[in-house]
Amino acid sequence: MSNPLPSIFFGHGNPMNAVTTNGYTEAWRRIGAEVVRPKAILAISAHWYVPGTGVTISTAPRTIHDFGGFPQELYQVHYPAPGDPSLARRIQQLLKPLPVTLDDSWGLDHGTWSVLCHVYPQADIPVVQLSIDRTQPASFHFEVGRRLAPLRDEGVLIAGSGNLVHNLRTYAWGRHQPEPYDWAARFETEARAAMLAGDFKPLVGYENLGDDARLSIPTPDHYLPLLYVLGTGQTGETISFPVEGVDGGSISMLAVCVDRKTK
Ligand code: ZN
Repeated sequence: MSNPLPSIFFGHGNPMNAVTTNGYTEAWRRIGAEVVRPKAILAISAHWYVPGTGVTISTAPRTIHDFGGFPQELYQVHYPAPGDPSLARRIQQLLKPLPVTLDDSWGLDHGTWSVLCHVYPQADIPVVQLSIDRTQPASFHFEVGRRLAPLRDEGVLIAGSGNLVHNLRTYAWGRHQPEPYDWAARFETEARAAMLAGDFKPLVGYENLGDDARLSIPTPDHYLPLLYVLGTGQTGETISFPVEGVDGGSISMLAVCVDRKTK
């Protein structure tokens, strides 16, 4: 039996990464080159954070430029990956009895395409996006991830996209890039240790982790995609961090890979 595909959480950070070459984007390219080529990708992005769970059903999902005030070149990026309606229906079936809408209004938002344009620059692997139900508690998102885990054996790469630490109020927009804030570094260290120990419970219960977690996760949207990815993990799997770094002092670019391989 072949190994299941890994699940990967990407820290996407600044949308400008889509049109930039830097250490993060180069690491994303290496991931695309090293992981067994998936049949399809299920993307769970911080930027589709709505009431209810939906999956994109379009055969040609549109590239959504869901931001304002960036240079024109960013609005010209298109990521023309096809959709995969059969995967959307498979997800609907796996999550039953949870109601999952087959959605033809959304497409690929920048949480998805600003990373995938580096991981799979050919845009030739079908992509389905799953929304994050903003009305649900953290445990719900971990559980949905757990129920999606069988897709890994069906050739699907589950890719969460957010940021483990995401505080835009303290982010150094266009200023000299500082060292990570102490609270950001401490929270990332704590979260990494829990992941390496396979102890996901405190991460699901992040609201009880104190001030460092509160500053690192002022709103849940960028954090929750990580819980889906962790939820897909199986006993005995390995956690690794193929991308590391903190941007602007308060955006963790950490990528988290859950994989069967022993390292
Ligand atoms: Zn974002």
